[in-house]
Amino acid sequence: MDDVALVRERTDIISLIQEYVPLKKAGRNFKANCPFHNENTPSFMVSPERQMFHCFGCHKGGDAYTFLMEYEHMEFPEALRFLAKRVGITLHEGARGSGLTSRKEALYEINRLASSFYHYILTTHPAGKKALSYLKERKIHEATLGTFRIGFAPASGSALVSYLLRKKGCKEEDILESGLGARRMGRLVDFFSDRLMFPLIDHRENVVGFSGRVLTATAHGPKYINTKDTPVYHKGEHFFGISIAKEQMRKEDQAILVEGEFDVISSFQEGITNVLAIKGSALTEAQVRLLSRYVRKVTLCFDDDTAGWDGVVRSLPLLERFDLTATVIALPGGKDPDEAIKNDPYTFKAALKHDVPVYDYLLEKKIASLDLKDVSSKKNLGDFFLPILTTIRNEIIKEHYLKKLSALLDTTYESLVREMGRHVSAKRDVLFTQVQKEKLTREEVLEQYLLALLVQSEKTKDFVKESMKVLAKILPKERANQKLLHLLNEYTEQNIYTTSQFAAFLPTELIEAFNTATLYPLGQFVEDGSYKKEVNRVANELATRHLRRKLKTLSLQIDEREKNNEETESLRKEYTYIAGLLDGLRRMIPSNNPIKLHLE
Ligand code: ZN
Repeated sequence: MDDVALVRERTDIISLIQEYVPLKKAGRNFKANCPFHNENTPSFMVSPERQMFHCFGCHKGGDAYTFLMEYEHMEFPEALRFLAKRVGITLHEGARGSGLTSRKEALYEINRLASSFYHYILTTHPAGKKALSYLKERKIHEATLGTFRIGFAPASGSALVSYLLRKKGCKEEDILESGLGARRMGRLVDFFSDRLMFPLIDHRENVVGFSGRVLTATAHGPKYINTKDTPVYHKGEHFFGISIAKEQMRKEDQAILVEGEFDVISSFQEGITNVLAIKGSALTEAQVRLLSRYVRKVTLCFDDDTAGWDGVVRSLPLLERFDLTATVIALPGGKDPDEAIKNDPYTFKAALKHDVPVYDYLLEKKIASLDLKDVSSKKNLGDFFLPILTTIRNEIIKEHYLKKLSALLDTTYESLVREMGRHVSAKRDVLFTQVQKEKLTREEVLEQYLLALLVQSEKTKDFVKESMKVLAKILPKERANQKLLHLLNEYTEQNIYTTSQFAAFLPTELIEAFNTATLYPLGQFVEDGSYKKEVNRVANELATRHLRRKLKTLSLQIDEREKNNEETESLRKEYTYIAGLLDGLRRMIPSNNPIKLHLE
């Protein structure tokens, strides 16, 4: 067995995925709301027997490696090393992927070397003196510089690039790709120059990029420059400070979000260590997803300007979607946390304890700018707040604010609900188109469902026998699921059924359909009785549909022959036989209505 297979075998996909997504037991499988697309009912399934996952909404699926590559955006070699380390396997030299450094790992390494270089310049080299005294003036302690690996990019033009090329043997194209070097007049030069350097370190301790700040703001040039987009750095996906804050975030079940690096650093020095900087105006989906892995409460502490709060409003649907509670800290005098702490750390800490729900905050803020005796102001308030309320998922909380709003507007609760309905239906259309369901015929759905019921049951052999009593003779062998149903019938006649042994017996081209069936989300069947009933109902409807189709074909054939005066005796016999079968089935299922499937 090669290393890749060995690591896969030692890895338990359930416990791996459980570290990122809360899984619930569902029959022989586990299920969750899909981490890759937006949904309210779980269609993300994980099979311990097959060691695979599959989402029936967005169709992402695979093994433990695929999961990490999708979820953590790892490349294969990185995922292999990650899992090998997790299960305590030392990879062989030359094992597939083990010697390979992925593109991303090469870039992480260059960024790591650069951050050490910048940190050395700041703390030890004469070129960093000016920056060091600037930081002292801003009351940044020496130990903090080490904790956040703060550095300084000298103004020399190519100090970092020469260090990476000559001392560390880095490749020119890697330096260019990392965004740390740029080509100017044919020469490779440093991208950052004469700036304080804040490395962006992700939750897995990789240095993904930098934020460079000028020491003295001048009229020309921006105050902050960030690494351009690279394979490891995407604007808006990272937080400054997460590698340091993540443990405390988990402990307190709360993350405090601020705007800038100095806000994080000053809070840290005051012992508030669950603080992150968002590095942008609105939270992105990648950021909210990351937060949801650590905390259930997010506290926003932004500058009091309009841009900051527009960002908050835009972030609310995302926070709701990931079930995060949002609160707000309003700092005295509208200062940012860094200023507020310098002014008076005690007041700042007190403000932290009095965070208010974000909806209260936004409502109060809006009301303060309106005169509610005026009808156009009332409309203004409704137009502002109703779309926000539609995104609240908890009905109790939603109702609370609707009542509050109806009192404020002096209007009935019912008319607000009606008004809100307009916003909701506009919104739902957008969400709906995000997930495109495959269009299957009723027969196809029934076949897939029956197969899933059979392979996921505790009594596969009995149920196969029962359902194939009728189906064996009439079910075609064209589609993958039809072939699987027939093979399952043959197999269970001779053998004891286990998922893995049956999988080993299958031809390769049917494996995918089989995996899908083993993961297909089923309703809850607690007692055996209802499970058996469900199997029979589905098998009977499937049989009925195939019989009806067959009868239709036969009667067309008979009509055709009669026109040509040909012998129709054998066709008539077959017709009578099938009509008899159908009749028998009809007696078993009294109504003609298609059954409601217990799908989730
Ligand atoms: Zn999905």
